Amino acid sequence: MRRQRRVKIIATLGPATVDKAVITSLYRAGADVFRINMSHTDVAGLSVYVRLIRQIETEIGRAIGILADLQGPKLRIGGFAEGFAYLRKGSSFVFDSDPAPGDATRVHLPHPEILNALKQGDSILVDDGKVRLHVIEASPSRACAVVDVAGRVLNRKGVSLPDTEIPITSMTAKDRADLEAALNEGVDWVAISFVQRPEDIHEVKKATAGRALVMAKIEKPQAIARLDEVIEAADALMVARGDLGVEVPLEKVPGLQKRITRSARRLGKPVVVATQMLESMILAPMPTRAEVSDVATAVFEGADAVMLSAESAAGQYPVEAVATMSRIAEEVETDALYRQIINAQRAAAPNPTVADAIAVAARDVAETLHSKAICAWTASGATALRIARERPLSPILALTPKRDTARRLALTWGVHALETQDARDVEDMVKRACVHSAREGFGEPGDRVIIVAGMPFGTPGATNMIRLALVGDDCC
Ligand code: PEP
Repeated sequence: MRRQRRVKIIATLGPATVDKAVITSLYRAGADVFRINMSHTDVAGLSVYVRLIRQIETEIGRAIGILADLQGPKLRIGGFAEGFAYLRKGSSFVFDSDPAPGDATRVHLPHPEILNALKQGDSILVDDGKVRLHVIEASPSRACAVVDVAGRVLNRKGVSLPDTEIPITSMTAKDRADLEAALNEGVDWVAISFVQRPEDIHEVKKATAGRALVMAKIEKPQAIARLDEVIEAADALMVARGDLGVEVPLEKVPGLQKRITRSARRLGKPVVVATQMLESMILAPMPTRAEVSDVATAVFEGADAVMLSAESAAGQYPVEAVATMSRIAEEVETDALYRQIINAQRAAAPNPTVADAIAVAARDVAETLHSKAICAWTASGATALRIARERPLSPILALTPKRDTARRLALTWGVHALETQDARDVEDMVKRACVHSAREGFGEPGDRVIIVAGMPFGTPGATNMIRLALVGDDCC
């Protein structure tokens, strides 16, 4: 089964999509990767989803990616004697270390390290920024703040601190347990929430030990301040616009989305644009014009993947949402301006290697000769990623002996990954690239394909060869 678009679609699973037939329909409608959000799923639920997806993968015969999204350190206030408090504009309000129920003057903040880190002038946003305060006086056991935006605050609402570097890692005890379960289930990608610094990613990478790739969710200003280092440390990025839009003024999100997408592309890391892309489809069978335009913007920008959250996890039209996203992407990618925009954003690799040079050459040769596919023999997936970085006109057929690699590449722009035995020699490599191109619908007899590989075969990072071949009659 061959997709007619380059950008990939991630569909979050949830109560609306726990059924195998529905997940199959999501795949057939266009979902390339399924996301399991550990904020709303327990370890038993994770296991059910993974089992169903792997069954579907076997039945369909295509590699499917699975992304487990860890909840991260969600900060919350304590409770109020009356279950809530109304905070009036201009009044002062204290966050402290006293676990006693709060009132309209104070509440418990059960995170001593946060009280320690808050300083005068820092913003405190409660309940996704609906109520806003700023600190006027801070000590290790209490922070006195003034209310800037008034509102009713309920027990245990979330707190965001855009100005404060929080001295805790992005992995909680729950995340550690979820990560272990996700790795044991064999997920392909793990997403980390509330990343602040590259060290947060190093910590998760150490725990995953290569068993899954690590995606950093960019949703905090502290991560943006060190964006290149964060991108360098991660295997992929997510523009997590939900929390990002709480932590920075909403009007800054579009510019940041462009900056993160371009920086990730420049550094050759897959990038996902997420959250509220087709939000109205939670309740309606049709999206708004603005949502269609939002998805289109991400596709024009050359994002590797666009993501559905509640639309597919808890909405009334999950399959329609995926099909709609797929149609928008296909339309954008055939738009007369698409190629011009994609090419305009191409940037040279910062520290080019032989493999980067081969990827550039493969794109150039493929475009000059109108090749039907660029076939990349790849063990780790790195060769396919490098070619994808070039955003070539021709689709990329990644041929890999590793099932994990094929699944991981499900997230990458323009890559159709196939698990197949490693090539024995150059003749076998050329012959089988042509056969697979024909079988997967990328070429017919007489069509030209480009083949990229590394010698000796199966050596990660050894990309050093480019060949041209014609699909023959005997390939079909
Ligand atoms: C987001 O904040 O945009 C996001 C994708 O993360 P979550 O769904 O965990 O809120």
